[in-house]
Amino acid sequence: MGTVSAVSSADAPSAESSAAAAVRPVLADAVDVARAALDELGEGGIGAHLGVTGDDDCAATHRFVAELPGYRGWQWAVVVAAAPESDHVTVSELVLLPGPDALIAPDWLPWNERIRPGDLGPGDLLAPVSGDPRLVPGYVESGDPEVDDTALEIGLGRRQVMSLEGRLDAAQRWFDEYGPDSEMAKAAPSTCLLCGFYLPLSGSLHAAFGVCGNEFAADGHVVHAQYGCGAHSDTTLPTGAGSPRFDAYDDAAVEIVTVTRPEPAGDETAAPATDETGRPEQTD
Ligand code: SF4
Repeated sequence: MGTVSAVSSADAPSAESSAAAAVRPVLADAVDVARAALDELGEGGIGAHLGVTGDDDCAATHRFVAELPGYRGWQWAVVVAAAPESDHVTVSELVLLPGPDALIAPDWLPWNERIRPGDLGPGDLLAPVSGDPRLVPGYVESGDPEVDDTALEIGLGRRQVMSLEGRLDAAQRWFDEYGPDSEMAKAAPSTCLLCGFYLPLSGSLHAAFGVCGNEFAADGHVVHAQYGCGAHSDTTLPTGAGSPRFDAYDDAAVEIVTVTRPEPAGDETAAPATDETGRPEQTD
């Protein structure tokens, strides 16, 4: 029994056939059988035949354009089969598959890989993943109440604390947003370290970071000691009014402008008669 050439599924929806897989003629010719099976399915939206691909010596897949709302680029795939040496074709499977230009959803991600900073809302629970590299074991209770009470006061007493890696990551994020290289800091008159609104952190990050307590500046954000802004507590305004970045506008100066009067039209040009006081004359 001879064979015919057929397109591969990756080439759809191009020409009817090309030199790809070899398909037995009895399978390649079963376009009407495949279409009839789709008609019987009753979903509608069966477009042009795109080609046939040989699956093996006894099976081939016919593809048709799927003309269904919301399925742009998808294809109907009908698997037909015929026993060796047989001329009788049967339908094995009907399925709707995305074509090369189909709009499909991105690969599925576990929820813990989908979460992004800022996603946590009121009532949400977000446990650290097992073996979170940002955390290391903290102080273990000694059993001595005097020691354990003091431990809490000095920042110990927690089952886990941030690891060096976790602290470095946090410091880098804060540095990027509120560090000395930001545009705000470059234009600032002084640094946070010398600002009265700067509330230094305790612990290992004490030397480099603090929280800004100025509601008109980076209020509540962790800022680098070398960050700074124009609301620094030592800021003094330049003498005179207005912004030092713009020339003052002299609103006392007279500006001469030319005004074009509209042309009067018809009787409206006649000035109303007035009496000796300049008021319009009364008429009976
Ligand atoms: S007001 Fe400005 S300079 Fe002062 S701590 Fe806040 S950000 Fe830093």
